[in-house]
Amino acid sequence: MKPPVPDSDSIVVGVSKCLLGEKTRYDGEAKPNVIVRELLGDFFTWQTVCPEVAAGMSVPRPPIQLVEIDNRLRALGVDDKNIDATKSLSRFSESYSNSMTQLSGFIFKSRSPSCGLSDTPIFRPEETKPARLGKGIFSNAITATHPLLPVIDERELEKPDLFRQFIRNVFCLNRWQHLCKQTSWQKQLAIFHSQHRHILILHNPAKTLEMENKLGIYTDKTINDKALKEDYIENFMTILKSPLEKGNWVNLFQVILSKIKEPLQPEVISHLENVTKNLIKGNIGVYASLEIFQEALANTETAKHSFLLNADTRETKITPNQFFHTECVCPFYPAYPLMRLCN
Ligand code: SF4
Repeated sequence: MKPPVPDSDSIVVGVSKCLLGEKTRYDGEAKPNVIVRELLGDFFTWQTVCPEVAAGMSVPRPPIQLVEIDNRLRALGVDDKNIDATKSLSRFSESYSNSMTQLSGFIFKSRSPSCGLSDTPIFRPEETKPARLGKGIFSNAITATHPLLPVIDERELEKPDLFRQFIRNVFCLNRWQHLCKQTSWQKQLAIFHSQHRHILILHNPAKTLEMENKLGIYTDKTINDKALKEDYIENFMTILKSPLEKGNWVNLFQVILSKIKEPLQPEVISHLENVTKNLIKGNIGVYASLEIFQEALANTETAKHSFLLNADTRETKITPNQFFHTECVCPFYPAYPLMRLCN
């Protein structure tokens, strides 16, 4: 079954169908996820899929589980040992992954033998306790065929840092997909790269530098266009997928302060230096620090041309605050008056 062609103006994200409230589960129920439905639905166009139903299973249906036999995963009935959905599920998952239209991300249902991203119980034959946790058959096919695609499961969505990283990566990949549709993509690459530079440095300054040293190659029109695009986005997304450490944020804030082109007022500099020091000491969280930087540098060209520093973009408007209670409390913000540069 071929997925529908997405609307080119929207950000299309794949999602396990039951998370949107569709009754596709083995017990005839849905598993609606409030973040997916009430927050992300305003920003993304969903491409929904239930791999088990698409593979021909009924609703309701006898439950299946993953069993490892001779190093191969089988989708077998939990109660009815004669049920073996391995072939149909694998066939659908492979065909979907290979013919998948351009998505910018995927949100999976956790713990499912088809959709689980990392926490699906995997059993040994005749055992009732799982031997380990792993990926479901469908999510495994998607991530193996599309290793650069931003993916997350419903449990990770509830972790603010992982949520933010996922949203950022979806928007970054979507902008790249949009750029690739332009015939003049090579001319615009330098701008694209500079707008994402802070995000890249945040994840891996050394690899960002390595990438920048060969930026000229990407504008070489004598090299195959497809190979150039693949090489650039592979480097770009690999950097974005690396885990974020607090030290990376400190490093980034120091780079911003030392490299910013606009002449900042001394009070602004000392305010931001103070924020960075307090971040190092653990008195303030990384996102509260970022908000202070965004606010203080709001009218600078540096912030306007940085997808990380610019607070006026669509992705910064997707805040998980209404759903989470784990926001860091900043001792300065909002009680501490923020100093703007140009007003
Ligand atoms: S196969 Fe995936 S989408 Fe379908 S019900 Fe199970 S978890 Fe939900």
